[in-house]
Amino acid sequence: MNKTSLLVLLLLIVPLLSGCVSEKESAGQVKVATTIIPLGEFVQAVGKDRVNVTVLVPPGAEPHTFEPSPSQIRDVANADVYVENGAGLERWMSSILNVNSHMLVVDSSKGVDLLAGEAEGADEAITSDPHIWLSPHDAAIQVQNIRDGLVSVDPAGKDDYINNTNSYLAELKALDAYLNSTFAETKRKKFVVLHPAWTYFARDYGLEQIAIEAEEKDPGPRLLAEIVEACRKENITTVFVEPQFNPKMAEVIAQEIQGKVVSIDGLAPTPSYIENMKSVGEKIAESLR
Ligand SMILES: [Zn+2]
Repeated sequence: MNKTSLLVLLLLIVPLLSGCVSEKESAGQVKVATTIIPLGEFVQAVGKDRVNVTVLVPPGAEPHTFEPSPSQIRDVANADVYVENGAGLERWMSSILNVNSHMLVVDSSKGVDLLAGEAEGADEAITSDPHIWLSPHDAAIQVQNIRDGLVSVDPAGKDDYINNTNSYLAELKALDAYLNSTFAETKRKKFVVLHPAWTYFARDYGLEQIAIEAEEKDPGPRLLAEIVEACRKENITTVFVEPQFNPKMAEVIAQEIQGKVVSIDGLAPTPSYIENMKSVGEKIAESLR
């Protein structure tokens, strides 16, 4: 290679390299966007100060009918990584991929044993149940998928990501053990919920979820009567609701069985995923004693 072509090559390469470096430096952290609050917490637990996390579905909003706003879609255009829950929760994913094709998309449900969900409409096929984060066992798989994604976009942080993941996995394991021993003591195993979010949770702890709503749909009078009858038969006196959903039907059933409505939140922003899951577990266990 002669001097001139070497110079030309350098002129071409140096701005490219410095461009990359300064972009990385100005960014500082890995920009991660994700869908729901618990996933944001998992990303934060794995990435700590190496990541900057944006959660799309705001507190109080309901993720199944959520659509990202144009400004949220613009924000995600700068993300390095998108952590999707997967299992069919993000039906709008293509609108985000249209504005950002360079980011790494991590499907956190990869490797999770998915259960069948509710059909969305009469004509639609049965989909998978997306509520995998409400199983500490499956949450651990999601956390490991997040770790692998962060390691691949930011290999310099590999040791940090692995160590942070290992400590969070230990917390999830302790949570799982806590819930196992909590439900081992409960006589009855059936509980009534408004929204069928607790399928994986119920599977993990040997429980049975009776749901009032199929995704977004009120039950017909026949199903209502069946639920009321099941409650009477099983001595169920608590109907669980989630704050993101209209409790009307739950109140109707609670009144019918002279029971009470208790709120549990699968998307609670505080105090933490682990503490919230313990508290949900205690509330459900209390209703089974
Ligand atoms: Zn849900």
